[in-house]
Amino acid sequence: MQRSPEIHQLCALCKKEHAVQRYTRADFDEMVCARCLDRMAVQDASEAQLLHRLDLVDRGQYEEALACLDAIWEANRHRDHTGWLARNVAMGRAHILYEAGRYEEALEAAEAWAQLGFENVTDRWFVGSTKASILQSLGRDREALAVYEEAFSHQDPLYAASIPYHLPMLVELSEKVGQPVDEKWRRVAEAGAEDFAVEMPVRGSLGESMLALAEMTREMPSKREREWKAKHGGGTGEGEP
Ligand SMILES: [Zn+2]
Repeated sequence: MQRSPEIHQLCALCKKEHAVQRYTRADFDEMVCARCLDRMAVQDASEAQLLHRLDLVDRGQYEEALACLDAIWEANRHRDHTGWLARNVAMGRAHILYEAGRYEEALEAAEAWAQLGFENVTDRWFVGSTKASILQSLGRDREALAVYEEAFSHQDPLYAASIPYHLPMLVELSEKVGQPVDEKWRRVAEAGAEDFAVEMPVRGSLGESMLALAEMTREMPSKREREWKAKHGGGTGEGEP
């Protein structure tokens, strides 16, 4: 009897564990390990519910939306090995409470979310921007800027392509408290520009330069995308083995 070659195959996602099962959905069909299988199942369950939840929020049915989050957590917490769902639920809670205008509770939820840790710096920036938005709604503009600057002070060259997208918030929060964007962010903005192989646009102020950079890089391929293209000869990467 021949053994399936798949038994010795590595997980297509983490590339560390042995693949144990095929996971198929619209845009994915690969052999994955037990841990990654659970993660994908958890993500899919959450995504499947997302539109419904957003719809409830749109209609002002905030309690129902919060109940949906509780339900998805209870049904899937046993297989949330990476904490992805815990973070996703915490994010959802902060968002719903914010939309409901329950800013103090939203702030608590965002703080609980931050306590769950971050997968990468962009996650950290996202939590920071959410907290900053809530603080702004509470009229605490100075704290909002401080919170966002703290989050943004964590940098990782791997995510330099995401920097320009996050600059407008820094500009807006600085303007809100009536001060120019701190010069200490110039180097960070330049690292973002470098990732897109462009010069930092020269404008009347650092803030205006940042907004111009965010605008001009919005639809440009990042360094990683360019390198991938150079290596693989163009295309979108679909159908890669
Ligand atoms: Zn895996």
